[in-house]
Amino acid sequence: MLLKQYIKRGIQYVFKGIPNKVVNANIYYLQPNHTLLGKKIIITGGGRGLGAAMAKKFVLEGAEVLIAGRNENTLKETALAIGCKYLKLDVSDVSSFEDFIKKADLELDGINVLVNNAGISLHEETFFDVTPDTFDKQINTNFRGAFFMTQTFISYLKKTNKNGNVLFISSETGETMDCRPYGFTKAAINSMVKGLANLFAKDEIRINAIAPGITASDMTGLPKEGNIYFGGNIIERIYMPEEMAEISAFLVSDAAYCISGQIITCNNAKTINVRWR
Ligand code: NAD
Repeated sequence: MLLKQYIKRGIQYVFKGIPNKVVNANIYYLQPNHTLLGKKIIITGGGRGLGAAMAKKFVLEGAEVLIAGRNENTLKETALAIGCKYLKLDVSDVSSFEDFIKKADLELDGINVLVNNAGISLHEETFFDVTPDTFDKQINTNFRGAFFMTQTFISYLKKTNKNGNVLFISSETGETMDCRPYGFTKAAINSMVKGLANLFAKDEIRINAIAPGITASDMTGLPKEGNIYFGGNIIERIYMPEEMAEISAFLVSDAAYCISGQIITCNNAKTINVRWR
């Protein structure tokens, strides 16, 4: 079966901090197999980072993709490079969502997948550094925005008699304790994934999430190239956005037809509550 085949692309980096430490990022790509033919996918915050990596993978798999975000120049550049469409969107502006879905529907001639990827982390150092402003910004973007975008999208699916699925980009922080809003938003998303999956199972609308470990992106400030050593991950390197895109492609595809309400944590068992390691 083609689906079982993969291509392994090894990149070797030499970590300069520890003498003779070599860090390898072997990324396993499923052989492109048109697993997403017929999928019409919106990705919020798709101009860069994990969103752009997902857009690229989804297009390779035969999907029609629309990326949405705030910065038109970034969106345009990414869309041109990948071969997808784009629309401007601020996920903290809930009043624009109905109009956005209408426009995206016209651009893609129908939509059947939503990826709630847009997110921010304000990295407050401690509990006491959280302010009403940092609290509201993270809740509004990561949780409130994703909630109402999903509500608008599922209303659209129901009105147009379509099946579809929603993928949230949660985080490993949603699985563990936290004392800052970023982690709360991801824990709330995990609850929402299960609640909505249960609510819409009979309508064949699937709801899932991936929960990435610490990955190279502008949000983390960790580079994709050069020194990728990171002692805080079990594999002693940061993850690559492409690794998250592979798992996402499977979850939004019909191959995952029987999967709903799941949060797939992508961190090599780091947050499993083990008795020993
Ligand atoms: P990133 O900063 O590169 O990308 C975030 C994207 O969201 C950007 O395109 C940004 O413009 C967009 N965005 C932010 N606020 C927005 C708004 N109000 N409206 C529209 N778009 C907005 O970071 P990333 O790491 O690629 O993050 C993508 C998602 O992955 C986020 O939800 C993040 O929480 C999640 N995540 C990232 C990591 C990691 O280590 N990088 C780990 C776990 C989860």
